[in-house]
Amino acid sequence: MNLINHWIDGRMHDTPPARTGPVFNPATGEQAAEVAFAPVAGVDAAVEAAARAYPGWRNTSLAGRQHIMFAFRELLERHKDDMARLITAEHGKTLDDARGEVQRGLEVVEFACGLPQLLKGEFSENVSTAVDMYSIRQPLGVVAGITPFNFPAMVPLWMYPMAIACGNTFVLKPSEKDPSPSMLAAELWAKAGLPAGVFNVVHGDKVAVDRLLTHPDVQAVSFVGSTPIARYVQKTAIEHGKRVQALAGAKNHMIVLPDADMELAADSAVSAGYGSAGERCMAISVVVSVGDAADKLLPAVEQRIAALKVGPGLAEGSEMGPLVTAEHRDRVAGYVDLGVEEGATLVADGRGFTVEGYEDGYFLGPTLFDNVSTNMKIYQDEIFGPVLCHLRVDTYEEAIRMINENPWGNGTAVFTNDGGAARKFQNEIQVGMVGINVPIPVPLSFYSFGGWKDSLFGDHDIYGPDSIRFYTQVKTIITRWPDPIHRGVDLGFPQHG
Ligand code: NAD
Repeated sequence: MNLINHWIDGRMHDTPPARTGPVFNPATGEQAAEVAFAPVAGVDAAVEAAARAYPGWRNTSLAGRQHIMFAFRELLERHKDDMARLITAEHGKTLDDARGEVQRGLEVVEFACGLPQLLKGEFSENVSTAVDMYSIRQPLGVVAGITPFNFPAMVPLWMYPMAIACGNTFVLKPSEKDPSPSMLAAELWAKAGLPAGVFNVVHGDKVAVDRLLTHPDVQAVSFVGSTPIARYVQKTAIEHGKRVQALAGAKNHMIVLPDADMELAADSAVSAGYGSAGERCMAISVVVSVGDAADKLLPAVEQRIAALKVGPGLAEGSEMGPLVTAEHRDRVAGYVDLGVEEGATLVADGRGFTVEGYEDGYFLGPTLFDNVSTNMKIYQDEIFGPVLCHLRVDTYEEAIRMINENPWGNGTAVFTNDGGAARKFQNEIQVGMVGINVPIPVPLSFYSFGGWKDSLFGDHDIYGPDSIRFYTQVKTIITRWPDPIHRGVDLGFPQHG
């Protein structure tokens, strides 16, 4: 059995691990590898390597860092397909979708290549007579990233290019369900000339995460995952004196007004609801039709669902792959049972779905519920699978209120041809990322990504300009060089120059 071990100090660890976990191929249901689970000492070894590498990396010139960043960008571009195949093999999403994931991560590296411009400070001459003031941004030290299964390449790429560009050294704890893309990233960094110890990968579970959250030499933690774990990560990291950003779960609503382009709305609901089998934090999981919009929308959605091709991610023509594990597939199927018990109308039922030749794969067909209400668990919980809930309301105000009262606030969208209605939405909606006739409004790398409410704990969004603020600390310096004007001792605060 292939063993995926930790990457510490520029190489794959060779000590046999005491604990491991299985890595499956979700399309076949077969175990493909074993991944090492780091004990406390394993995490300590990675943090020590990162701490040793820090002084050298921090003092590497901006041009030197930029050179390595460009080299990594070239290598990632060249190995895009290899990375995508690793994602599909362990996550299950279609190859085309996996390529898109790598592309979006690559864009963060491209943004990070502009580091000399991004890290510029500020300078004010003569803030007082012959006194100058300036600020510089300095790295934090060793920083850690803890990432979820659903974007095994892209979410880590939201973090480490920016952290490393800023002069920090990094310890990544990827999801134990699909660890291989992070190992390819580590190899590419080494080929790009990144000094050993600047980028490390430790695999594992709660033991590894807890050690990163409490280790005295870890200065900051970036986390992306489910809401309960994000809350725990934020609380624990803060208690241990760390800067933390914890991006969490979601229940993303899409409102459809009666004047919308219904073909576009139906295409968007199906693409954003079932893409990556609904295992995206920006997936649409709730469609809210206003007034008589449902009369045209629902038949168009049903028609599209019936035509979806579900199959192994590597097979030509597959549009939706399996879920990540058997356990997760069963949990999502349990929600379909629950929705029926709760009285929602099951329009499309994905339970018991099998693919010929892949009978042991973790497949679930696209599922659609109509007449869902906000007191049902299938509305309230994040299902994270190919299950779309359709709700009907009489007015636009009701639809907006529903979103604003929902505890999550990651992404949302409105479909309408009325500019005034769209403007009202962007003005009033309590959500961090908003689409107008765009179902998955993921910001590009030169903006930052982040939800509101229970979708993000912390003060900083991820990647883009906010990550420069997150991964650096500002130092402000005031200088006076000896000059003829000396005013003597003055114990007061200066009031004028
Ligand atoms: P998860 O919370 O189970 O796991 C995330 C990470 O935390 C993994 O590395 C895992 O090993 C670790 N972890 C799990 N349980 C832990 C525990 N008890 N203590 C300490 N660490 C623990 O999330 P997941 O199932 O891998 O990913 C899906 C979730 O991530 C969904 O809720 C999804 O919405 C969310 N997500 C959010 C965003 C966003 O940007 N807001 C992006 C992607 C995914």
